[in-house]
Amino acid sequence: MRIITRTDASIEPEDWRRILSSSIRDLNELLERLNLSPEDLPAQQRAALDFPILVPEPFLQQMTIGDPNDPLLLQVLPRAAETELVNGYITDPLAEKHANVNRGIIHKYHGRVLLLAASGCAVNCRYCFRRHFAYEDNRISREEWKEALDYVRQNKSITEVILSGGDPLMLRDSALFELIVEIENIPHVKRLRIHSRLPVVIPQRLTAELIRRLGDSRLSTSVVMHINHPSELSELHRDRFKELRLAGVLILNQAVLLRNINDKLIVLSDLSELLFEFNVVPYYLHLLDPVKGAHHFDVPEHEAQQLYRELLARLPGYLVPKLVRELSGKANKSPICPP
Ligand SMILES: *Cc1c(COP(=O)(O)O)cnc(C)c1O
Ligand code: SF4
Repeated sequence: MRIITRTDASIEPEDWRRILSSSIRDLNELLERLNLSPEDLPAQQRAALDFPILVPEPFLQQMTIGDPNDPLLLQVLPRAAETELVNGYITDPLAEKHANVNRGIIHKYHGRVLLLAASGCAVNCRYCFRRHFAYEDNRISREEWKEALDYVRQNKSITEVILSGGDPLMLRDSALFELIVEIENIPHVKRLRIHSRLPVVIPQRLTAELIRRLGDSRLSTSVVMHINHPSELSELHRDRFKELRLAGVLILNQAVLLRNINDKLIVLSDLSELLFEFNVVPYYLHLLDPVKGAHHFDVPEHEAQQLYRELLARLPGYLVPKLVRELSGKANKSPICPP
């Protein structure tokens, strides 16, 4: 356990934490900053009540001023449609409650566990499948990590630990590094994976210390970024991703197919090409999980398959992510094959 002393408290917060704390949490401020008036958008305060607005500054900087259909804005703007009830869209579409074997652990995939290392996120994505997840019951303190890690220690079949959340990179480097040491000390664990959207919305999160630590681990380490649209990437991402890659970390990307955001061939192929240019390998393209309040983002399966066929015809195989859907109770993602 690390004890917070006065010396720690007086240390300047890391850059990314300062950026994080200045995030936009107010609808009017968001619209003002983008030179949009509330009439331009059917945005809704009511939709934000149980899932608040949260937009970090660097993510806002990537949006186009004055564009009410900006693909980044649409990912974070509360809409009236979120409060509509639609058949089949439920609060726990993946039934993760059942796979929640221990506080802070989800064990539903063979050989790998998700460790819910942090409960919050740096951005609130309106389509998120975890917008209703019981994070409160899963907020794990550092003492509880020990218990969660005991589960990993006792299960020799677990060879990969996936840090998840919320967003695991919400942890400060010091806390994250302690957790990594604990995982490295479990002999049968071979791989460490971090699923995060934080370096996407705040690239400053990839601190030199973090990059070095991940590169130096005895575990084979990968980071799965969640990037949905090429406009999310900037020159700073290019630099930091390059350093991460040079440190020996595999960088993958998982995108969600989202209506009016990335459901066009040109957007998906540009995304794959730009990712590769940025040292990131396209990994998954996910169909939306049927989560309550997100139905307006859905792209029907037949349309997704059509897009996928076109993507296959246009790109080299290694730039085509796997098109998948997560089905509750299944121990792996289900591939959606084009007919
Ligand atoms: C699918 C998924 C995993 C597991 O992915 P595999 O690559 O199939 O092992 C882990 N974390 C998140 C957030 C996922 O969506
Ligand atoms: S960062 Fe990921 S987990 Fe967090 S709200 Fe967005 S999609 Fe959901």
